[in-house]
Parts: sequence; structure tokens; C-alpha cells
Amino acid sequence: MGSTPTNGSCSHVVLFPFMSKGHTIPLLHFAQILLRRSTAVTVVTTPANRPFIAEFLNCTAVSIVTLPFPTAGGVESTDKLPSISLFYELALATSAMQPQFEQLLETLPPVSFMVTDAFLWWTQHSAKSFGIPRLVYYGMSCYSISLSIEAARSGILGGSQPDDELVPLTQFPWIRLCKEDFESGFRDPKPDSIVYEFNMKVMSATYGSYGILVNSFYELEPTFVDFMNKESSHKNWCIGPFCLAEQTPKKVYSEPDVKPRWVQWLDQKLEEKTSVLYVAFGSQAEISCEQLEEIASGLEESKVSFLWVIRKKEWGLPDGFEERVKERGMIVNEWVDQREILMHEIVEGFVSHCGWNSVLESICASVPILAWPMMAEQHLNARMVDEEIKVGLRVETCDGSVRGFVKREGLKKTVKELMEGEKGRKAKEKVRELADMANKAVQEGGSSCTALNSLLNETANC
Ligand code: UDP
Repeated sequence: MGSTPTNGSCSHVVLFPFMSKGHTIPLLHFAQILLRRSTAVTVVTTPANRPFIAEFLNCTAVSIVTLPFPTAGGVESTDKLPSISLFYELALATSAMQPQFEQLLETLPPVSFMVTDAFLWWTQHSAKSFGIPRLVYYGMSCYSISLSIEAARSGILGGSQPDDELVPLTQFPWIRLCKEDFESGFRDPKPDSIVYEFNMKVMSATYGSYGILVNSFYELEPTFVDFMNKESSHKNWCIGPFCLAEQTPKKVYSEPDVKPRWVQWLDQKLEEKTSVLYVAFGSQAEISCEQLEEIASGLEESKVSFLWVIRKKEWGLPDGFEERVKERGMIVNEWVDQREILMHEIVEGFVSHCGWNSVLESICASVPILAWPMMAEQHLNARMVDEEIKVGLRVETCDGSVRGFVKREGLKKTVKELMEGEKGRKAKEKVRELADMANKAVQEGGSSCTALNSLLNETANC
């Protein structure tokens, strides 16, 4: 276990992120925001996740505490799972940490509130026994949460209509969803399934909580923030975008050698004045070899310059591809600082799986999105990007369905539309407006800053 907070502040917050990059990074940004408010922060994690967190925070002011995580396979994070289909086993196994978590709470200085991931439902019991307000972190937009609630109510989930039939939502009649917008386990919820059991645990723990911490800002989705505030018994604290916590996202390198080669390559493209398309599908998505080949061919035929970050698991590009595109394409198969790439002046488009962090990071960097959702609530995020906030367009699938295969022609056509077409130009205008609003929201007097002030005042315990 790590040391306890020592900065003498009277306010102390415990953060317990779920063990995946997409759920951890935003809470680490939130830790940075709290530190700047002279709030002491303890981050709770497992041994294997500690090095990433320590390196990310890169400061001693946050106390990092590890709890042993007794899993059979020794896997402590979703990106190390052989398949994301094992997610529920991993998530359910986290409850084995409850006794150690409660022992830790006994030893910590007074805690003003804790923020724990929705997937760590059992922390609600711990919070209640220790009388600590628990805020739940879902890592989703209010749009996706509201649409999920409405889809269940409107009978879209569990209904007998075909999976691809679009049905209007009662509360949001301009939005039409189909079952395919949801993961298969949610489409026809069966009370004896592991998905159902897990969701019930997560939801009932949320009902008992102090509120939801939302990584979003009011001006981005006012209708859906208002809906959630009206519908839920607890408060929703809209305090994002957390990725704006880094005050100087543009890194300063003392030596050119330490600058990652992909950033040097972007600098070179900037000198050449050649816009770059950034292509990345987050830390979890699993892409088939056939699909990978089509992506490669689509990018090659589009003739745009591109930086493609590819996960090691997916490595297996068509023969000679890298040689053929070497003048205008860079392929990276290691961890990159995505924020740094998106903030680079020469990056003008993002082919994204629409993980919520990627959407927010793209908006904050004024980069329009070509939405290619893969899993989880990414299909809802893609609808939001395309139909609601209009900061991008969707990739064209070969059969027009939301989960369909994307052929090279479909990718090439939509990439060109994003980078050179009218829809891309409009999306660029819109994303710039929203980036400006995001920056205002986190400044003094802005909606997110005001919400954070009120959370800190409400939970101050000394
Ligand atoms: N990320 C990164 N470098 C990588 C891959 C991912 O910095 O090489 C970050 C990305 O900026 C984002 C998070 O990891 O903050 C991924 O979260 P998101 O919600 O976009 O997708 P997920 O990985 O959860 O599907």
C-alpha cells in the first residue's frame, strides 16, 4: 500500500478507476484538476496498473495505493484480456477487493468523497458503511445514458422488431435508434444472464450513491443533462471535459531525439503543409484481419496522408503496404499520447471508434471525426457525433447497417468527404465552436468550473 496524503489540505478525495485505460485516464485527469484545487487525492488501483498511473501522474502529490487483485488468470486490466468477451468475468472478480478496500478506508485521513467506477458497484457498500459520499463514474455522455434509459422505456430493447429497424424515442422524437445500436447482451436482456446480473448490480448501486460524475460539459448536450437531472434521484455533476486538465497539452521537448518519431513526422508534414488524418480505434477494439486489410487499402487509395495507430494484436498488414505508402503514411504500433497527436496543428481529421474519451479529446482539439464505432456505447456516441452535435460523419458500411463491414471504397469515400468535402468543412466549423465552449466551461465562471466548486463546497468535511 502507498503512503497517505501529506499536503496538509483539509479536503481529501479517493479515486478508484476501473482497470482499463479508457476508464482510468479521465479519472487521472480529474486527479490533476483536484490537485490544483489544493485537494489531496488518493488513487486506488491494483499492482499491475500502478506503473501506468504513476507515470501518467508524474508527480508525488497523489498517493497511489495498490490492493491485491486475486484473479485466477493474473489479468488485472481489460487490455490484457485474451478477448474483451471476458470483460464481465473480470469486472465481477473485482468484488474480491472489497475487504482490503475497507481496511484501507479505515487507515486513511478523513475522506470528503470518493469517485469509483460504476463497474466497481461493490464500493457503494463500502462507501455507505464508512459514511463517505460516493460519486459514480460511468465514462459516458449524458446523451448515451439518456438514450439507453429511453431505449429501455420505449421498448426498443427487448422488443420483437428486427434488429435494424429504426424506432423513434418518446422523449426525443428526432432520434431514431435500432437494437443494433446496443451490444447483443443488452438487446434482449435475459434475467439469468451474466450481463443482466452485472447491470442490475451496477444500477442499484448507482441509485444508492451520492451522484454521477459526468465527463462532459453542459453546453455540449444541454437537453440530455437536463433530462438526466429531471429523471434521476441523485445529482449529476457535469465537470468535464477532464482532458482539459493538462494546461499545456503541447509538450515541450528539450532534445529532438526524445520527441516520438510520429510527432517528428507530424512536424515534417506541417512544414510541407500536408494535412494529416489520424486513425485509431482506442485501447480495446478487436479488428479482424479482413477488416484491417480493407482499412489499409482504403487509406492507400484515398491518397491522404495518415498516421495510423494500430494495436499489436491486430498487426498483420497487406504485403508491401508500408513500402507503398511510406511517403505519406506512418504506422505506429505502440502506445502514443493521443492528446498530443490530436492537438498537433497539422491533424485535420480523426477516424475514430468513438470511445467517449476520444470524442471529447477530438472536440477539444477542434478535429472533426469520421465515426467508426465498434463496441460498448460507441454506436450511440457515433450517432451523437453525426446526427446530434454534427462534428463529423459516419463511415460507410457495405450494407448500410450500423455494424456492417467497411470496404475500401466506403472508407475512401468518407475519408475524402471528411478531409476535402462540404460535410467535412461544416463539421470543422462546428467542432471549433464546441472546442471554444469546452474551454470556457472549465474556466472560472464556466459551467463545469461552477459545478466543481459546488461539489467541493458541498462535500467539504472540515
Ligand atoms: N490512448 C492513448 N494512446 C493510445 C491509445 C489510447 O493516449 O495509444 C488514450 C486515448 O487518448 C483515450 C483513451 O486512451 O484517452 C481511450 O479511451 P476511449 O474512451 O477513447 O476508448 P477505449 O480505449 O476505452 O475504447
